[in-house]
Amino acid sequence: EPDFDTPEHIKQAAIEALNEGKTKYTPVAGIPQLRQAVADKFERENGIPYAPEQTLITIGGKYACYLACEVLLDPGDEAIIPAPYWVSYPSQAELVGGRAIVVETGDDLKMTPEQLEAAITPRSKLLVLNSPSNPSGVVYTKEDLLALAEVVAKTDIVILSDEIYEHLVYDGGEHHSWASIAPELIGRTITANGVAKSYSMTGWRIGYAAGPLEIIKAMSKVQSQQTSNATSIAQWATVAALNGPQDEVVRMRTAFAERRDHIVNRPMPGGAFYVFPDVSAHYGKRAGEKVISDSIDLCNYLLEEHLVATVPGSGFGKDRHLRISYACSVEQIDQGIDRVAQGLAALN
Ligand code: PLP
Repeated sequence: EPDFDTPEHIKQAAIEALNEGKTKYTPVAGIPQLRQAVADKFERENGIPYAPEQTLITIGGKYACYLACEVLLDPGDEAIIPAPYWVSYPSQAELVGGRAIVVETGDDLKMTPEQLEAAITPRSKLLVLNSPSNPSGVVYTKEDLLALAEVVAKTDIVILSDEIYEHLVYDGGEHHSWASIAPELIGRTITANGVAKSYSMTGWRIGYAAGPLEIIKAMSKVQSQQTSNATSIAQWATVAALNGPQDEVVRMRTAFAERRDHIVNRPMPGGAFYVFPDVSAHYGKRAGEKVISDSIDLCNYLLEEHLVATVPGSGFGKDRHLRISYACSVEQIDQGIDRVAQGLAALN
């Protein structure tokens, strides 16, 4: 997660909300001021015309994704998920009785229209897109999305577009919202987002979704029985995050870009704060008695023998890779990468 502190003006808004007694239940779908701020943000930053009633404030972006699965997937319905994927997508689909259909991608780790087409069956209900991606940092271009939209247009699949890393795109690259590039599909797109990554607010637990009214209403109904509203003072802080000055977002993006340049040379991921190198050339080597045969073995070895934490690619559906986060200081990046390098060099 981002290692920056939450920007001061956002913290102040929460303190004011506390002092003003805004500590009670709120409407399940969120305070009107925040739903308006979310609708304004979609219009301003993404060019998507959502009305406030088409938005839902959730407990983290994670719960927005889960609610989408809950209301859309009947038992046996299929959710198409390109690999590598954020670990929660397949589990969320399976938790509600759906089936996760994982699409293998090629070297650039992006799903092609052909791969999407081949995954579609009569039970396909949901397509999960995540750009910029966790874990790969890959960013889909407008052309990539348009090509996928052409395939989706021939079906009645609903799209869950998780855009939580939208502000972390580098090298002058651009984030494109699915619902803005495929407006003919806006009636069956759910856009999920949150403030965790953009505003360094992971612990505040505020996410949001926007989409067709009937889907958002259904998600809100489920939320009303499972959790009720997201925390009141965190909602007020989020109003300040979305409506207030955005210079901290730019400052954090610049710092992430510098760190990315520090951790990687090629291929350079376009967004998020992860790199996802293919380390499979080291499989089959030995660490003493032990044979390193997969990403879990390699991560355990690096952690236990070289005291550096990475995440096995198998958790994201790509066993040949490791995920390395650069949401830490440049000094920590240097130290961590030195340890990985020493660890790999010690294998034989
Ligand atoms: N979506 C993706 C792709 C993520 O990587 C994460 C967090 O790691 C989330 C959603 C959830 O974020 P939140 O903290 O808002 O629940």
